[in-house]
Amino acid sequence: MIPQEFEYDAPATLQEALALIADGERKVLAGGMSLIPLMKLRLAQPGHVVDIGRVAELNYIAEADGVVRIGATATHHDIETSAIVRGKCPLLAEAAGHIGDAQVRNTGTIGGSVAHADPAADYPAALLALEARFRLVSASSDRTVAASEFFLDAFTTALEAGEIVMEVQVPVEDPGEGYRYEKVAHPASGFAVVGVAVRVKKSGEAITMARIGVTGMGPRAFRDEAAEKMLESGVEVGQATAAVGEGEEANIRVGRLSKASGARACGEGDQDGADEGVVKLDGRYTVALQQARAYAMLQDPVVLARCMPGCEGLDRVAENEYAMRMKMVLASISGKFEGKVRITDSDPPSSFRLLVEGSGKIGFVKGEGLLTLTPDGAQTTVAYEGEVQVGGTIANVGQRLVETTARMLIKRFFEKLSASGAGVESLESAAD
Ligand SMILES: Cc1cc2nc3c(=O)[nH]c(=O)nc-3n(C[C@H](O)[C@H](O)[C@H](O)COP(=O)(O)OP(=O)(O)OC[C@H]3O[C@@H](n4cnc5c(N)ncnc54)[C@H](O)[C@@H]3O)c2cc1C
Repeated sequence: MIPQEFEYDAPATLQEALALIADGERKVLAGGMSLIPLMKLRLAQPGHVVDIGRVAELNYIAEADGVVRIGATATHHDIETSAIVRGKCPLLAEAAGHIGDAQVRNTGTIGGSVAHADPAADYPAALLALEARFRLVSASSDRTVAASEFFLDAFTTALEAGEIVMEVQVPVEDPGEGYRYEKVAHPASGFAVVGVAVRVKKSGEAITMARIGVTGMGPRAFRDEAAEKMLESGVEVGQATAAVGEGEEANIRVGRLSKASGARACGEGDQDGADEGVVKLDGRYTVALQQARAYAMLQDPVVLARCMPGCEGLDRVAENEYAMRMKMVLASISGKFEGKVRITDSDPPSSFRLLVEGSGKIGFVKGEGLLTLTPDGAQTTVAYEGEVQVGGTIANVGQRLVETTARMLIKRFFEKLSASGAGVESLESAAD
């Protein structure tokens, strides 16, 4: 498919580039390895693209005062083969070597990778373990943010409108450290099913310093400080390893792929874009609400409209059935959906079934699940079990992204629901 028409600028200086993106309306293009495929599918339709690939000021790798500074447009290949990176922060060079294939490594950039914040990307694990910082600049600001505060959620970072990642700053590794990046790659996409970056320092047999960055295991890459402390306090390595990821997103457990979708994800499905992905999800979330209140809120159209990410309207069309308008924006993808929300099998205050379906230009999304509410003191645990199905063009983003997106939308829904608890009176009166 050919992308829709767009304006294109290729500024030669950083100042020019920042001026062009200052209004937050234009899309930065770096290596294009993530953005261009989405544009070709018309899942991303920026009206104006600013190509930073010709900004010489962004392409460097240098070391000074114990910090390796890497310009945003350094490619994965530059990083993998740089004598400075290999000598001063070899963990990063090792992670770069695990990214995609030679073409991706020759074209994709470190700035593009961290800004895109794919939850299965390789760099974030290494950059978290290396305690890297990112220099973020706009036409009117210049700040640095620690990697641990940069990756907020799937495809969501601390970048603000009009800002770019200008530089990645990596403290030089102690030559006495041990390091390793291990990745279990998905057989179809090559992205990490799980990737773990580790640095350790030892004194005799004792581990005196451990840093662990993890990718692929949740909606965002994270540093596992609990497992680090276990290693540093002398807990046996196997026990600490088994604990990796336990603390992260403990509230949400997400299930496996269905057999059919798993087969497709491994390349057995059709390739014509009409493929449909089905993701099975299960998990639970604890909300700060009494059971009866939580049940009532989950059935309240005003609450549902506020908590469902991207919901732009929910109008009652029948008993327990609502027409819905929704706008989804995720990474570079955006699309509008119209559909319905239906509540069935109500068994207050314990369980009900929720069906959400919508379709639009970029395809359709259909989700169905059983929600079970269990009192837990002053709180309520809401367990869910169901599946999400997507079809049409949007299915081309791949099984992995469908699962990640569904997982993130559910998390955001419950976070908003929990936060709405304080304003429950006004919500109820708004529903009257
Ligand atoms: C076939 C294939 C396999 C891949 N396999 C892997 C893999 O195994 N592991 C892995 O980690 N990655 C993988 N990738 C992703 C690859 O690493 C991309 O290069 C990277 O995610 C995006 O970098 P880019 O320079 O191409 O950015 P682009 O595609 O140009 O941009 C991506 C996003 O970042 C924004 N952006 C770009 N640069 C900046 C900046 N400096 N500041 C702010 N915003 C910016 C853009 O606006 C866009 O939203 C793969 C990609 C492909 C196509």
